[in-house]
Amino acid sequence: MQQFQQYIGGAFSDGAEQFDSLDPATGKVWARMPEASAKDVNAAVEAAEQAFFSPEWAGMTATARGKLLYRLADLIAENAPRLAELETRDTGKIIRETSAQIAYVAEYYRYYAGLADKIEGAHLPIDKPDMEVWLRREPIGVVAAVVPWNSQLFLSAVKIGPALAAGCTVVLKASEEGPAPMLEFARIFDLAGFPKGVLNVITGGPVAGATLTSHPKVAHVAFTGGPETARHIVRNSAKNLASTSLELGGKSPFIVFEDADIESAVNAQVSGIFAATGQSCVAGSRLVVQSSVKDAFLARLKEKAEAVVIGAPDDMATEVGPLCTRRQRDIAVDLIDRSVAQGAKLITGGKPVDREGFYFPPTILDCSEAPNADSLTNEFFGPVLSVVSFETEEEAIAIANNTKFGLASGLFTQNLTRAHRMIKAIRAGIVWVNTYRAVSPIAPFGGHGLSGHGREGGIQAALDYTKIKAVWLRTSDDPIPDPFVMR
Ligand code: NAD
Repeated sequence: MQQFQQYIGGAFSDGAEQFDSLDPATGKVWARMPEASAKDVNAAVEAAEQAFFSPEWAGMTATARGKLLYRLADLIAENAPRLAELETRDTGKIIRETSAQIAYVAEYYRYYAGLADKIEGAHLPIDKPDMEVWLRREPIGVVAAVVPWNSQLFLSAVKIGPALAAGCTVVLKASEEGPAPMLEFARIFDLAGFPKGVLNVITGGPVAGATLTSHPKVAHVAFTGGPETARHIVRNSAKNLASTSLELGGKSPFIVFEDADIESAVNAQVSGIFAATGQSCVAGSRLVVQSSVKDAFLARLKEKAEAVVIGAPDDMATEVGPLCTRRQRDIAVDLIDRSVAQGAKLITGGKPVDREGFYFPPTILDCSEAPNADSLTNEFFGPVLSVVSFETEEEAIAIANNTKFGLASGLFTQNLTRAHRMIKAIRAGIVWVNTYRAVSPIAPFGGHGLSGHGREGGIQAALDYTKIKAVWLRTSDDPIPDPFVMR
């Protein structure tokens, strides 16, 4: 059995407590993980604070920070196969996806490596003749980063990359589900040559998470996870008024007009909801399709959904692997049963696959006669698509926006003017037109409403890890005039 270690202040340790990690493909224990105690969390935050003020890190030029991030990116690229293998083993995410995604994670670090010495202050044209005023952008402090189990290397890269580029230090809490790739990432990070304590990697569940996010020495909490946990995070961070960025779930609409290239839209919908076994925050889980093409679209989609290769996650031929946990599989069963009882029609799937492990097949529910079905409104992390139809553009907009979430959206149409009207009308942080599930370090990512606030990716994400200091310098040699008048 493999034993993984936590990484605190540049040292690796087993931690006082450990917990078992299950292989989602078999449901059996395959590794032991360190469970961070309150003492470990404190030690990690202390190490991050010490590093933040240390001459080795605080005194390092931004260009040198960038070079370390480039080195880290190269190490990730070199070790991508091993990281992918571990993510697949511990979370059940298919190897086809983890290999491609982790190789691309290196690009996120490269992007922020290049940005490190482009985070600039400003000089202000101040309205006083004897003053020079400029703005310094300084790192915000110790960052607590908390990630969920799906795509942890990716979701942590969009936090660690910009935070380190800005000069912050980080304590990252990996999810208690499938933390192996993050703990292995710590080993790779250690080789890059950063000063000790700049990054600390721990794992554990809600208790470790709460201790970390309410720690008085944490300046910012960068969180990805569910809306309910986000409420805890906000309450935790309120203790010391730390700022937060929240990347939460979605119930993203995938809108298809009758003039769309149907074959292309079907493929994008398959990718939008069945890739990553539907365990993706941007999953296009609500198909909003024009009535005139609904039957043809669904027939083709059903055919493709039923042809998907379900299998072991470490097999390159597999397209849909197991869900990450038994609990997720049970939630799927429950959600589908409730939705069917509420009037949704099951088109395909709906029952766990009859094999060991947490497998669940691509599932399509027609909710045209059940507009309040739970599957249409509740965020769920799995390969479950709910379908509704519309007649007019106005109706499509109303359905798309009828959600408390607002993360992603997809729009399929050949009509350029309609596309522009829809882009404006859809309330979401991302609109993909005639494509879906495309990401890049250059493009910001984030949502509205229950999908959270703040953006990850892009230049702004690095600026969000800084605070502005306004500097006033008086250039006159004359004595300061009337001390009782504000200047
Ligand atoms: P979750 O909210 O249950 O857990 C996320 C993380 O929070 C875990 O590390 C967990 O240990 C920690 N945590 C739990 N309780 C805590 C507490 N009280 N204080 C501090 N930390 C605590 O989420 P999950 O079930 O692991 O992941 C699925 C969720 O993540 C879905 O809602 C999904 O949509 C969302 N997600 C969002 C994005 C995005 O970028 N928007 C990406 C991936 C996943």
